[in-house]
Amino acid sequence: MITVAELADGVRADKRAVLARAITLVESRRPDHQARAQELLLEVTPGPDAPIATRVGITGVPGVGKSTTIEALGNHLISLGHKVAVLAVDPSSTRTGGSILGDKTRMGTLAVNPRAYIRPSPTSGTLGGVAKATRETMVLMEAAGFDVILVETVGVGQSEVTVANMVDTFTFLTLARTGDQLQGIKKGVLELADVVAVNKADGDHVVEARVAARELSSALRLIHPRGSLWRPPVLTQSAVEGTGIPEFWDAVLRHRSTLQEAGEFDRRRRQQQVDWTWTMVRDAILGRVEHSDGVRSVRSEVEASVQDGSLTPALAAQRILDAFDGHSSRP
Ligand code: GDP
Repeated sequence: MITVAELADGVRADKRAVLARAITLVESRRPDHQARAQELLLEVTPGPDAPIATRVGITGVPGVGKSTTIEALGNHLISLGHKVAVLAVDPSSTRTGGSILGDKTRMGTLAVNPRAYIRPSPTSGTLGGVAKATRETMVLMEAAGFDVILVETVGVGQSEVTVANMVDTFTFLTLARTGDQLQGIKKGVLELADVVAVNKADGDHVVEARVAARELSSALRLIHPRGSLWRPPVLTQSAVEGTGIPEFWDAVLRHRSTLQEAGEFDRRRRQQQVDWTWTMVRDAILGRVEHSDGVRSVRSEVEASVQDGSLTPALAAQRILDAFDGHSSRP
């Protein structure tokens, strides 16, 4: 069996076969694998003076052009001398079996570029599990010298919030929507977005896209009042033609330097680590409660009582916790 030290050396040397094994290890849910994965992560975690990769989240509805944008952006970044890793957080893939990055042909030229690495969403179950694997994979990719990490997600449930909390700059791709159609954009995603881009601004749609960008910009001004540290720009771009892609990247860099100058960048990253710690504590405790023998033995009865109204949800929650405590405190 390959040792943790060998894995760490292989990751740092960007040996792709070793990197793939290391990622498989952090994605595994087997307790012995998880223990080795944590050893590996400690081993490869860089010191405080190491260069910091730029982590960018990209969201938008299916069909908006995320893959096409990542392909164009990735190639642009490689032409600037960067090494680009593409990861995905797609909890729906665990249900449907199909991942948003499962089909690499959607990023054909990037997928074959040796300075790029594309990894589909892990299919390890819950959003919490997928997010954990993605965060840890990000650490491995950075150790392997990837200095830009692009994390793609679709707006399913909490996945956008989860990705926004693991990147430095969260970007939102949309299509030209104006007036009433603007209402269709989830308000939550506008609150999370640091950069907004109206994609498919090409052919007959250029003017429409610019009008939409102006309207979105006004909508964003309500969310980020004058005097905010950063007011998200709304850009227009065509991922297929490649227009607006360098400007998109410039906006990401401007966002990063604005945060850095204000000391906000480091603060955010440290806070993300702390939040992440507590998220894992919550997930682990919930798992213990749900799988404890005590809770298993009362679960269906308690759920039935809530459904027929003979227990309030608050009392039912207490019954479940009592069943857990009662069981877990037994020798
Ligand atoms: P995703 O589901 O968000 O990843 O979207 P894709 O990148 O797969 O793109 C969905 C479709 O839109 C594909 O047929 C793309 O060729 C097309 N598309 C993506 N970007 C653009 C663009 O900038 N302009 C035009 N006209 N089509 C685009």
